Amino acid sequence: MAADVIDGKAFAAGMRASIASEVAALKAAGIVPGLAVILVGEDPASEVYVAHKHKATVEVGMTSFEHRLQAETSEADLFALIDSLNADPAVHGILCQFPVPGHLDERRTVARIDPAKDVDGLSVTNAGLLATGGDALVSCTPLGCLMLLRDRLGDLTGKEAVVIGRSNLFGKPMAQLLLRENCTVTIAHSRTRDLPGVCRRADILVAAVGRAEMVKGDWVKPGATVIDVGITRVPHPEKPGKTRLLGDVDFAEAAEVASAITPVPGGVGPMTIACLLANTLTACCRAEGRPVPEGMTV
Ligand code: NAP
Repeated sequence: MAADVIDGKAFAAGMRASIASEVAALKAAGIVPGLAVILVGEDPASEVYVAHKHKATVEVGMTSFEHRLQAETSEADLFALIDSLNADPAVHGILCQFPVPGHLDERRTVARIDPAKDVDGLSVTNAGLLATGGDALVSCTPLGCLMLLRDRLGDLTGKEAVVIGRSNLFGKPMAQLLLRENCTVTIAHSRTRDLPGVCRRADILVAAVGRAEMVKGDWVKPGATVIDVGITRVPHPEKPGKTRLLGDVDFAEAAEVASAITPVPGGVGPMTIACLLANTLTACCRAEGRPVPEGMTV
């Protein structure tokens, strides 16, 4: 294997340690950053994500407010809760775990959250601020990917970047961030012609599709940096009844060609929660009129 493996787990652990020390300093000044998480219904995967977020929030010394609502909660009741969190000065970040039950609308739900507390960075306001060069709260996973890229490559100016995937959650904000770093950015998607050829142009290749091992070794430009965002759970080949996670990139093949690559698991995944905490700290500092600590945003 030629490529260096980018250790997102270690990078995220370092970020969490920095966040914990910033939180301790804020607490000494009487300020406690608080993150409120809303879970509507009992989706098992969402339960796991919410539990992880709670643990990580408490570990860095922030206050975690959990709000579990019945699956049949009306939009009016959900919005009343969001309104009360928007107004609560102890709450600096609010996120609603998606998916929500079918009678609720994700777009309207995000729009109800105060953009200054929208730590998932999903609101139209934050997407617009990102696109126009303002002080956005940036969607956590692309923010984490950019931090890994900067750490690995330093200045990204002039690099050819290809992002596969154009979701509002990941692909679009990732492309905006790379553009802000002066990359030449291509966004590929399911209708892109000659996807392997497009990918071969990339000094930075970011895959966020959700199709296991779609990106083959001969799609990767020699020496490229590959960021694998995709997560697909598949049956484990050697352990009957067990599953394992695969990324969008054929790791073994791509690692022979790339200069650096993120693994799945242990690459991008751990950065997402670290960046959620970073966004909560950023939102808290802005709300309190304090400078945002170095390394928390881009
Ligand atoms: P999404 O909303 O389903 O978007 C997937 C994108 O992939 C779409 O833009 C789609 O194109 C494109 N696509 C689908 N098939 C394709 C193909 N054959 N060739 C090229 N492009 C194709 O998913 P998402 O929310 O962005 O997430 C993408 C992946 O990242 C998922 O596996 C998700 O689990 C993972 N993820 C991981 C984290 C983390 O914390 N590590 C966070 C977020 C997401 P069209 O727009 O043309 O349909």
